Amino acid sequence: MNTAITQCAQQILDGTDLDRSQIEMLHQQSKDAFDDLLYHANRIRECFFGNKIRVCSIVPGRLGGCDQDCAFCAQSVRYDTHIDKKAQTLTDQQILSAAAEARKNNVPNLGIVYSGRAITEKELTRLESLIRHIHTEYGIGVCASLGIINTDQALRLVAAGVTRYNHNLETSERHFGKIVSTHTYADRIRTVEVARKAGLGVCCGGIFGIGENESDRIDMALELRRLGVDTVPMNFLHPIPGTPLGDSQKRSPREILRIIALYRFILPKIHLKVAGGRVLNLRDLQSWIFYAGCTSILTGNYLTTAGREAKDDLQMLEDLGLEVDRGK
Ligand code: SF4
Repeated sequence: MNTAITQCAQQILDGTDLDRSQIEMLHQQSKDAFDDLLYHANRIRECFFGNKIRVCSIVPGRLGGCDQDCAFCAQSVRYDTHIDKKAQTLTDQQILSAAAEARKNNVPNLGIVYSGRAITEKELTRLESLIRHIHTEYGIGVCASLGIINTDQALRLVAAGVTRYNHNLETSERHFGKIVSTHTYADRIRTVEVARKAGLGVCCGGIFGIGENESDRIDMALELRRLGVDTVPMNFLHPIPGTPLGDSQKRSPREILRIIALYRFILPKIHLKVAGGRVLNLRDLQSWIFYAGCTSILTGNYLTTAGREAKDDLQMLEDLGLEVDRGK
């Protein structure tokens, strides 16, 4: 067993976070000690989360038609992709059907996701009543991802019963400008802080495989730790033809598992949610994510690509002896 990795794990289990130099050393050591890294990442997960795994699904409240230029995204009007350039807004009935589907599938949380930089007053008013209705009728948790929000909007979401607000950093501050030019890293951080201060749980992470290097990955993890987020969604690029990253090489399953495990060491008590790109990139190694430290999954379809049916994911958890966390 690799001594340095074992010592890092023990320090975390004893309650002290790793500092940057320890994280860099861990990263170097893990290149030749994949099994050891996963073994200890799994111990850390079990210590802080037991055998409980959070499961959520998402529904795109508005799809496509976004004027922003995130280089990985099929929904930007700047790129010719399989998504219509005209924004499509789901009807109330379509969103309620997604809530009914989540409840039927035993999925405890539903995220409503809007494309675009921000939402309008009219859209927020509509969502407030829809979210209240979902709580009353379906008894599931509702999360929201609506772009940049201000304090008043965040407080209204809290009052409507939103549990958690999703807004990703995507990558490190250094790499962000190569991926997005239409808004800034500071814009993203501001929204995360607004959401947290308003009392929303914060679901904030990023996407890997977009040309970032190892330092970028560590920087983003440390920034997420500083921001005090409660869940970190980890997306792995599914290259979309027509986007600037459409020809990018996919990351290997082992590299993805190493990234998840490294994040478990850096963020030992924060939920790690493996989200977009799981099915495409991990192939047969999907169930290994839990041994790398993952504590949360996004099931069903992603926003613009296909995922796995909830019943298959729930069966995977049962087969692994893991339980669905029914908390919101
Ligand atoms: S990630 Fe969001 S903001 Fe960026 S282009 Fe896609 S929909 Fe627009």
